[in-house]
Amino acid sequence: MQADSSDHRLSGPRKRRLIELDRNHVWHPFTQHALWNRVDPLIIVAAEGVHLIDADGRRYIDGVSSLWCNIHGHRRPEIDEAVRRQLGRVAHTTQLGLVSPPAVELAARLVSLAPPGLTRVFFSDDGSTSVEVACKMAFGYWRHRRKTRRRFIALGQAYHGDTIGALSLGGIELFHRPWRPLLFKTDFAPPPYCYRCPLGKSADTCGMACVGELERLLQSRRGQVAGVVIEPMIQCAGGMITAPAGYLRRVRELCDQYDTLLIADEVATGFGRTGRMFACEHEHVAPDLMCLSKGLTGGYLPLAATLATDAIYEAFLGPIASGRTFYHGHTFTGNPLGCAAALASLDLFDAGNVLDRLQMRISLMAEHLRRISCGAHVGSVRQCGLMAGIEIVRNRATREAFPYAWQVGARVCARARDHGVILRPLADVIVVMPPLAITADELDDLMVAVERAIEEITPTAASGEVDGLE
Ligand SMILES: *Cc1c(COP(=O)(O)O)cnc(C)c1O
Repeated sequence: MQADSSDHRLSGPRKRRLIELDRNHVWHPFTQHALWNRVDPLIIVAAEGVHLIDADGRRYIDGVSSLWCNIHGHRRPEIDEAVRRQLGRVAHTTQLGLVSPPAVELAARLVSLAPPGLTRVFFSDDGSTSVEVACKMAFGYWRHRRKTRRRFIALGQAYHGDTIGALSLGGIELFHRPWRPLLFKTDFAPPPYCYRCPLGKSADTCGMACVGELERLLQSRRGQVAGVVIEPMIQCAGGMITAPAGYLRRVRELCDQYDTLLIADEVATGFGRTGRMFACEHEHVAPDLMCLSKGLTGGYLPLAATLATDAIYEAFLGPIASGRTFYHGHTFTGNPLGCAAALASLDLFDAGNVLDRLQMRISLMAEHLRRISCGAHVGSVRQCGLMAGIEIVRNRATREAFPYAWQVGARVCARARDHGVILRPLADVIVVMPPLAITADELDDLMVAVERAIEEITPTAASGEVDGLE
């Protein structure tokens, strides 16, 4: 008999026991536990395609790809099988001094797909570590060339991860400000956030003044900047902020002009999310370092890669006594199960013509967004490929935001759950980022659920009929 979702259901007592243990022992990421412990959480026990299945057998569309990483849907037989096959050989061996076939094959595969010039692949475990590695490579590159360059330039609203180095490049007040005393100093250029321009300009007439600010920074720090770090095309965690056409290209030109490295953090945008394999391709940009993670394994297993140019790699060559060895590495670096999943995921891209077929989904999402953008409390909709952010506001005319304590974005997402969709907002930006494998019908259902949830929650919220969440 075919297994079905009901096989995974949990009994009432088992559910209550899990929730109790969760409350007593699990510290969830980005979660205020004073609130979490008051509501019954959803327990996901299984998944199938783009659906997550809860302990009662209810199915939900995975509207944010299990935090932006799932690509081909859950339980893809090809990826499941690749992991099982690798498990039949070995689950893990070290990359320190040993070679592992799936890692070698994956490195070569990534180089063949990446923008030109990126020829070396350093594996690590997650997005944050891939950014740490890129920073240390950039700093080391200049050091080995007898230049002391210790500054990084990042963008306001940037998010590059939560470890101390990656956090140092972060420009989101709420997440990053509290840790400043622990972090290295970074210079921040204004983000291309046209809906709320930090320079108070209007997109039609500004001539990309934010790039001008970046140039001024590069000028004033001439000779000190190890690299400019950017989320190409769209700053995700900062609120799904899409850059205007030509922005990324200009940043690349400025890095060349001021002789510094461009570090592209494609942790969120990589692997088709933007409609191309990598976001840099949209503007024919080749970075000096590129960070990959989330979608790398199809969203199956933790794995990351930092790609570098020959020039950077070669700066680390020399006799042992030169001290140029890149002394960095994590225990599970290049994990064979993760690499096997990644190879299977890349095979699926080829076999399923994923990127070609995706273009219709992207247009369909755009159609829905056009309609949603007319909503009474929708301030701005932003889309890049199959990623979208819907910024809801208290007052559309003045762009006045809802008070943060009202958690209107979270309320919209809680309502969407009643309509069969799992979402996770960024403050009052509703993020929609389904797996690339979503069908047209499923995408219709997802977008309609999002629209309904916004329409049901925002009018009451705007009239002030909510209690602040303490
Ligand atoms: C998620 C993310 C990271 C951090 O990745 P983790 O795997 O959570 O450490 C880094 N950069 C970008 C752009 C991301 O979206």
